[in-house]
Amino acid sequence: PSQNLYSALRAAFPKNLDATAVFASTPEGAPLNYSWADLEHASARIANLLASLDLPAFSRIAVQVEKSVEAMLLYLAVLRAGHVFLPLNTAYQQAEIEYFIGNAEPAVVVCTPQNFGWVSKTAFKAGTHSVFTLGQDRSGSLLERAAQCGDRHTPVACGRDDMAAILYTSGTTGRSKGAMLTHGNLLSNALVLKDYWGWQPGDVLIHALPIYHAHGLFVGVHGALINGSPMVWFNKFDARATIAAFARATVFMGVPTLYVRMLAETSLTREAAAHMRLFISGSAPLLVDTFAAWQERTGHTILERYGMSETVMLCSNPCGADARHDGQSERRGGTVGFPLPGTELRVVDDDGKPLPAGEIGNIEVRGPNVFKGYWQMPEKTAQEFAAGGWFKTGDVGQQDARGYVSIVGRSKDLFISGGFNVYPAEIEGFINELPGVAESAVVGVPHADFGEVGVAVIVPRAGARPDTEAVITTLRAQLAHFKVPRRCFIAAQLPRNSMGKVQKNLLREQYRDLFL
Ligand code: ATP
Ligand code: MG
Repeated sequence: PSQNLYSALRAAFPKNLDATAVFASTPEGAPLNYSWADLEHASARIANLLASLDLPAFSRIAVQVEKSVEAMLLYLAVLRAGHVFLPLNTAYQQAEIEYFIGNAEPAVVVCTPQNFGWVSKTAFKAGTHSVFTLGQDRSGSLLERAAQCGDRHTPVACGRDDMAAILYTSGTTGRSKGAMLTHGNLLSNALVLKDYWGWQPGDVLIHALPIYHAHGLFVGVHGALINGSPMVWFNKFDARATIAAFARATVFMGVPTLYVRMLAETSLTREAAAHMRLFISGSAPLLVDTFAAWQERTGHTILERYGMSETVMLCSNPCGADARHDGQSERRGGTVGFPLPGTELRVVDDDGKPLPAGEIGNIEVRGPNVFKGYWQMPEKTAQEFAAGGWFKTGDVGQQDARGYVSIVGRSKDLFISGGFNVYPAEIEGFINELPGVAESAVVGVPHADFGEVGVAVIVPRAGARPDTEAVITTLRAQLAHFKVPRRCFIAAQLPRNSMGKVQKNLLREQYRDLFL
């Protein structure tokens, strides 16, 4: 049978197709709802438009548009048509788009009406067949053309290993790589999460994340659709509006910064969150402080999980009792929980030798969710897989004797000072415990004698002004000297990208010449 992901999602739609699937609103704030039948028929029209272009199978459809329900429908249409969805971060500017379009050679590009001029020039130069536009208010040529097409469409037959999407990684550690994900990768992960997070009838998801990234697109959209659950849809995150929506929803997914922003609202109370069943966090580390503050304010324990573009979700704290781990159902702050059912995880040293529980090393994974490779990077792909099909995640962490996995940092984040490995996340953990510190980032910068030394950037708590000299003195009493940052700076905030990830490359750049 066909393994087309859309068919599996469609099979999970509720019997009553007239029920509301998406509660959205117009840019002016008026309610705009979509039924399940709307999702089926509107995505069929776009799929028929794509079919009418007579493109080769598995053509890339590159999409850089503002978030909208129609942008999600375009994703579903690409699945139906058997092509490859390639979403691009809305923050990317001309030079970046030139790189992605040149690299991906898409047959179709969909962009905003405002960007049509320069995007179409770039696209046609790269051999693109058609360029369509899609505005956040349903304007543009894509929907105009789709409206001429029929609203019935049978999903193209696909195999499990057929490519469904190329997701460019966030570029946190270097140039973004295109991760090729298959229908089988995405479906297997969606089914595992449906079960592991206890999705049930009556669940309603608040969708407030961007959909050019695995978190909002796969974890969010698949999560709701594969359970036949409606979504309360926000094109942009707004802390107050999200808190107000808790009363008519049950599940929320966010990156840590969204939780921090909601905690700053007085409307966030136990009563406001009483209707909710589950709060999920991921994409970047959730501070233990945020985890504890959320528990105190709302009575809910945030479930933290871990994944990446190349593998979708890998680990999760338990939602209910996990029979594989003594029926443990405790969500532990500062950990990302257990490897998901079907995902194998191991921690190895730099020679690839598996390490015992509790020891810090490189995280490698294997499973039906692990991607096919990096688009047009066969050497890079070969390098990132160890013998036996283990994918090297590039993350450094440990798994304790009870099975909980913690992420300590990234292997590329590690720096070497006087010949010793320094893991910035370990130092940040110590700094974050000090009075007056909200959060911190440590980076290695060039140093004439030691090769590299640490520099710490501290964000103070509201009203506090930590003494940077005292911070260094305190750390000297707690840590080996090679780990202690040489200099410490105060900053109002850390530079972050749209997924809440700290952009350490910017900090390294800023302090590059400090010791030279
Ligand atoms: P690039 O690979 O281009 O450097 P990136 O790794 O940030 O960028 P993504 O695939 O978007 O790109 O992000 C995956 C990474 O996000 C993971 O490898 C991990 O480092 C981090 N991450 C995700 N969830 C968590 C979490 N709960 N705690 C800590 N880190 C997390
Ligand atoms: Mg990565």
